Amino acid sequence: MATLTFETLTFRLHGTMLNVDLLKGFTTAIPLEDLEQLGEFSLPDTHTIAFPTLKQEKAAQKFSFLLNKHFAHLKTKLTGNLATYIHQNSGIPLIGNVAFGIVYRNSSIIEIKPVTSCNLDCVYCSISEGLSSTKHDFVVEKDYLVQELQKVIAVVNEPVEIHIGVQGEPFLYADIENLFVDLEALPLVHTISIDTNGTFLNKERIDRLAKFTKLQLNLSLDAIDEQIATKMAGTKSYNLNHVLDVIRQASAKMPRRPIVAPVLTQGYNEDEMEKIITFIQSLPRQPILGIQNFLQYKTGRSPAQEIPWKDFYARLQELEQQQQIKLRLGKNDFNIRETTELPKPFQEGDVMTAIIKCPDRFPHSVIAVAKGRTISVPQCEFKKDKKIKVKIVRDKHNIFTGKIVN
Ligand code: SF4
Repeated sequence: MATLTFETLTFRLHGTMLNVDLLKGFTTAIPLEDLEQLGEFSLPDTHTIAFPTLKQEKAAQKFSFLLNKHFAHLKTKLTGNLATYIHQNSGIPLIGNVAFGIVYRNSSIIEIKPVTSCNLDCVYCSISEGLSSTKHDFVVEKDYLVQELQKVIAVVNEPVEIHIGVQGEPFLYADIENLFVDLEALPLVHTISIDTNGTFLNKERIDRLAKFTKLQLNLSLDAIDEQIATKMAGTKSYNLNHVLDVIRQASAKMPRRPIVAPVLTQGYNEDEMEKIITFIQSLPRQPILGIQNFLQYKTGRSPAQEIPWKDFYARLQELEQQQQIKLRLGKNDFNIRETTELPKPFQEGDVMTAIIKCPDRFPHSVIAVAKGRTISVPQCEFKKDKKIKVKIVRDKHNIFTGKIVN
């Protein structure tokens, strides 16, 4: 009798299929006839599959082969977009891509990105993420991420902030609290900051999060007017009152004061800034307010013209004087320092052979792997494990883009 238990997987029978959810937000399905070829099976609980006629080792090997095969069709539940699970045995390194893994820009803030996808659809989203996204998604195994991060921290070898700034909503990552546990235990990590839209937080969760003394929540809030907030969030399901409540709770309970970060967007929320400041000032323990200027990005949504920086800072200064609050935050407020460079195994202009591992975020682009790094290769058809010759056209901060050469 073999019993296989997976904490990150949930099994559910559905007609002629076994539905397999990964980390709650991602799903695939295995046809029962494929499973039955392994022998009889049962589901003693939602995380366990048992094969009464197989030995443990054989069952593990055969089931893992089936899982891998069907993970090729893994989908993000929110959008139905295809997704790739990046784990210790996936053969996909965590450095090289801006959408997942580890992004280290030679500064004392190291970004980590365990997941992509979002439950909102904000009009100003700089990466066009959310419910209307059709991009390929990624989800990273927590232990793999922490293990690779520790290697980077060992190179940096000085106190760092870990910033969880994902292309999407990080609390969609079901392992997020376990990730906080691991990060909190790393001696060289002084801060764990995380950008969130706040929709997945609530009183109970904030009570749990309050035990993380290094955790700094950066919460979005674009308006106090319900209609404007919903319009900016891009979905009717946005519940402003819930988010306001989350901000109240987080301000009262989190060991570190949260940052509230509205995106000032012309034609949408210019008149909301005073109201947001009044709301912040009404809280017994005030969060830090970090108003951001909407900027147009090549891959982002473009609902408005940018406000010129000069006018933006003039507006902040005006609000600071009117409402007696500090709004202009600088590098010193975030304690950012330049740190040791991470070695680059190849540089712009180099030509090498790389192996295609999975699709990249955008259509007709792939992620290829060479020398422990990923390389984004646009205009390339996805064919798993195919060898291609690429020329590196971008190498800044160990984020690599390549071009196919013949
Ligand atoms: S919450 Fe963030 S990631 Fe999600 S759509 Fe809005 S801006 Fe984009």
